[in-house]
Amino acid sequence: MNVPLVDLKAEYQLVEPAVRAAVDRVLGQQQFILGPTVEACEQAVARWIQALSASSSPLHGIGVASGTDALILALRALDIGPGDAVITTPYSFFATASSIVLVGATPLFADIDPGTLALDPEQVEGALRRSREGRNPLRVRALLPVHLFGHCADMDALLRIARREGIEIIEDAAQAIGAACPQGAAGAMGRIGCLSFFPTKNLGGYGDGGMVLTGDADLAASLRRLRNHGMVDRYHHHEVGLNSRLDALQAAVLLVKLDYLAEWTAARRRHAARYAGLFTSRKLLDWITPPVERPGFTMVYHHYVVRAKRRDELAGFLRKQGVGCEVYYPVPLHLQPCFERFGWTKGAFPAAERASEETLALPVFPLMTEAQQTYVVDQIARFYQTG
Ligand SMILES: *Cc1c(COP(=O)(O)O)cnc(C)c1O
Repeated sequence: MNVPLVDLKAEYQLVEPAVRAAVDRVLGQQQFILGPTVEACEQAVARWIQALSASSSPLHGIGVASGTDALILALRALDIGPGDAVITTPYSFFATASSIVLVGATPLFADIDPGTLALDPEQVEGALRRSREGRNPLRVRALLPVHLFGHCADMDALLRIARREGIEIIEDAAQAIGAACPQGAAGAMGRIGCLSFFPTKNLGGYGDGGMVLTGDADLAASLRRLRNHGMVDRYHHHEVGLNSRLDALQAAVLLVKLDYLAEWTAARRRHAARYAGLFTSRKLLDWITPPVERPGFTMVYHHYVVRAKRRDELAGFLRKQGVGCEVYYPVPLHLQPCFERFGWTKGAFPAAERASEETLALPVFPLMTEAQQTYVVDQIARFYQTG
């Protein structure tokens, strides 16, 4: 049997007629950059997240060219740049930290909670203390938590820290559309939230795309300018912005797929529950630690990431048996060669380093069948020779 890590072709079969019709409409209109389809997509995504949110203030969606650009534009809109620092997690996709560096600011890492694998508020306090004690003239301007793998960070504590310190929160919700916690919906709790529509994300387009979310109308207006060369009126530029716009073909695809998102998220959650049951019944819990979903949180399982004993051997075995799996992320961000100049060394963030050595993502795509899932667990049981 073959069980890929994700199966975009199976999803395409379901949406194909509607996607083709929607793409045809855009081709007929010949308006590809921004325009009515993009606006419809911005409103639909913002409303969809608003509906999950605890807050009643309206959410603005600003379609941009990628999740990475969403982060860069969020930082730019808050005027974060040289001389500023942003506290973030060392255990995430590269863009979380590179966006901070690309605007000229300095990332300050704080270690993760080994349970949720997201930014640990206690460690954020430590990073804030260190930034005050050192001779470091940097101003900490924002926290940039990541709702990693679809589980919200501890927003209760992070929002309290941000309020106390008078700093901003930018949420990296690239992996977490539809996730929620007692403080609200992923992307709608901080000053700004950032989404990615990379094809394998829970809401994926057929190319790059992203969105910035904010409840602040002035910030939304600023973001709309910044994604479009900083243009106010046609060819009048009061600031230097990017060319970073969601295109109408992507927006058309995303509008179709948004209709499936609740159902596909529910399917991911069912698969996760079933994995947990299978690991128990197959007596695998000495070898495999399933992901944590904290009480009151709704995780959307962008990835289903376990901790596994003999992780690399298991990954090799599974691949040989036709099971797709992947290590997210093998090198924590503070140890990336391109960030060497910041001076972090091994041992600086032990929880992140341990996670990068122990975690493995297993297939959890919405249309995975029970037979496929049973096969995955059978192979894991074969590897460890249990039940
Ligand atoms: C995918 C991702 C991004 C970047 O999104 P792109 O659309 O690929 O630019 C940023 N942060 C996290 C956590 C991601 O998973």
